[in-house]
Amino acid sequence: MPVEINCCERQAHMDRVQGTIFDIQRFALHDGPGIRTTVFLKGCPLRCIWCHNPESQDFNPQLSFDRAKCTDCFRCVKACPAGAHKVVDGRHVADHGRCCLSAKCVEACPNGALKIIGRKQSVREVMDVVIRDIAYYNNSGGGMTISGGEPMSQFRFTLELLKAAKEKGIHTCLDTSGYAPGDLFERVLPYTDLFLYDYKATDDKEHLRLTGVSNRLILDNLDLLYREGASIILRCPLVKGINDTDEHFMGIAEIDRKYPGLAGIELMAYHNMGHEKYERIGRKPEMEMLPTTDEATKESWLERLKAFGCGKAIIG
Ligand code: SF4
Ligand code: SF4
Repeated sequence: MPVEINCCERQAHMDRVQGTIFDIQRFALHDGPGIRTTVFLKGCPLRCIWCHNPESQDFNPQLSFDRAKCTDCFRCVKACPAGAHKVVDGRHVADHGRCCLSAKCVEACPNGALKIIGRKQSVREVMDVVIRDIAYYNNSGGGMTISGGEPMSQFRFTLELLKAAKEKGIHTCLDTSGYAPGDLFERVLPYTDLFLYDYKATDDKEHLRLTGVSNRLILDNLDLLYREGASIILRCPLVKGINDTDEHFMGIAEIDRKYPGLAGIELMAYHNMGHEKYERIGRKPEMEMLPTTDEATKESWLERLKAFGCGKAIIG
């Protein structure tokens, strides 16, 4: 028999359940239908070589230093209790490995060159932001999207956030790599109106090389969700010369044939806007910076997919 909880207990529960998030974007237009608020969770088990949100991968908060905004005033050097800021050859250098997350440097910096990416927030705190735009969701067919990182890696928080949104009548999208235990997907399914489901490489060895994990679990979960009636848009990140192979296009077309009720197939063309973020968090990019995908390449992808029998795909 379901346990009834009263309103105060529900509020207390929403305060107790916390997640680590790195951003909340209001008025998002590319994370599902309509106008949306997208909640970005920190932490991902994958390491896609093209990832344009490298700050989403680590599960913990981390220091970001934007060299372009730094005027070498060295206030952070004095403020930092951990010695994470140094002067080398007359210029400020951040030593990310020493950062103790005190944020003293962030307070000291006059130029906004430093920030700590990632913060703990409760379901209630996030919902306080999400509900502000209910009128826009209702007028545009929008809602809330949970993205990342991989939201399923913070399963409890994601589940409770989805439930809280549904209690307010808000449309929910879950933007996922599909890489999580199948039973967890079954548990979020009743509260998820639409899955934005990544498909990155058809050949399993290639998937492992490009993302760090096998695609078997991802394909199993896609099958499971489809058979249980989930609404799914397949999202295929494509990088020219990396995974835009005939084999992969045939794989996408095969998925289209196998799951004709997919709500859509979107090709997510590589752009290089996230490249400099690696340096800001003290990492080397996994892949050299490539040109942002041009329109002719996107068109040719659609044509090739059509030739393999998939006319449903659009550029996302
Ligand atoms: S306080 Fe800010 S501007 Fe000054 S050296 Fe540090 S990062 Fe650069
Ligand atoms: S699944 Fe997404 S967040 Fe995770 S590494 Fe890949 S592109 Fe980045």
